Amino acid sequence: MPNIQETDLLAGGIDTFIIPADQVAHVQPDNSLEHALLVLVKSGYTAIPVLGMDSCLRGIISKAKILDSILGVERMEPEKLSSLTVEEVMERDFSAVKADVVFEKVMSLSIQYPFVCVENHDGQFKGIIPRSKILAHLNGYLHELRKTNPSM
Ligand code: AMP
Repeated sequence: MPNIQETDLLAGGIDTFIIPADQVAHVQPDNSLEHALLVLVKSGYTAIPVLGMDSCLRGIISKAKILDSILGVERMEPEKLSSLTVEEVMERDFSAVKADVVFEKVMSLSIQYPFVCVENHDGQFKGIIPRSKILAHLNGYLHELRKTNPSM
């Protein structure tokens, strides 16, 4: 069993942290905002990936972006929910890494992004790593470290 202090936390792989694609709530670019809002509300997530028919990542859609897009000058305009598509509103600046990056890379990105998308080398969406998985791993690691080094 390797000593915790000898385990290189930052240089480790990310495979064990990935929520696989088939368990990730997502929508498609041509879905209506109404559909996206339903998926977001039912799943309880604030933002989810947008995947093309080719299973490649296109963007991220969030409740905040949807609300912003139906905000009129004097009132909310919910009728826009059925006429606007996800593609017209989604965020195109998202975090994505290849599946062979090290833990340190995903940890750094998760400071800014609530989840990091993972792609295979052919660009296919593999899954996501949510911030909670990174924090849980760091928490476990620090507890183990304290056990072997009580002065910390
Ligand atoms: P967490 O760190 O677990 O709170 O997750 C951070 C964010 O990752 C959530 O707010 C969602 O935007 C996203 N997320 C986590 N799990 C999933 C999932 N199974 N499907 C889609 N998005 C998810």
